[in-house]
Amino acid sequence: MLTTAITKPIHNTHSAFTTFDNLPSIEQELLRKAAQARLNAQAPYSNFLVGCSLLSSSGATFTGCNVERCSYTQTTHSEQNTIDTMIAAQGPSKIALIAIIGGVKGQSFHCGAPTSNALPNLNDVVTPCGHCRQIIWENCYNDSSVRIISLLPDGNVFCATIGDLLPMPFGPHNLGIDYATYSNE
Ligand SMILES: [Zn+2]
Repeated sequence: MLTTAITKPIHNTHSAFTTFDNLPSIEQELLRKAAQARLNAQAPYSNFLVGCSLLSSSGATFTGCNVERCSYTQTTHSEQNTIDTMIAAQGPSKIALIAIIGGVKGQSFHCGAPTSNALPNLNDVVTPCGHCRQIIWENCYNDSSVRIISLLPDGNVFCATIGDLLPMPFGPHNLGIDYATYSNE
């Protein structure tokens, strides 16, 4: 596992860098799916393309991308798109693992051993925005250990948990909802 100088604030001890080729096969598969979904992004205004994929607790995987509209505020973020696709397909369910890849149009991402020996830099990491962290948490079912991985262009991967990225969350429990026992029937 690689380490790097921390150049922007980070308030946890669990997140770390690894490399694509060191990931378990399911995480490699999710990143490949996210890379493919990213190429479907509709992002003519920001030119910042984001792809996402997730493994649900059912074992099924889903993908999504960001979808921008000219009004800007009606833009759909990649993570929300992916989670909503999961819910549309199989109902409210828990996320087991989520992968994202974000970068400007034309940026390529290497799904393999790192292309250089340079240490990865936190400034190059794309993590879910605050809006999406809250949305991800909704479907983590109170499990702060749900893993979030983000591929950097050179094949390095940032790994964290939702608990790292959204400590002390406001969640369904605050409104008395326990999805483990929730049903539409
Ligand atoms: Zn977002």
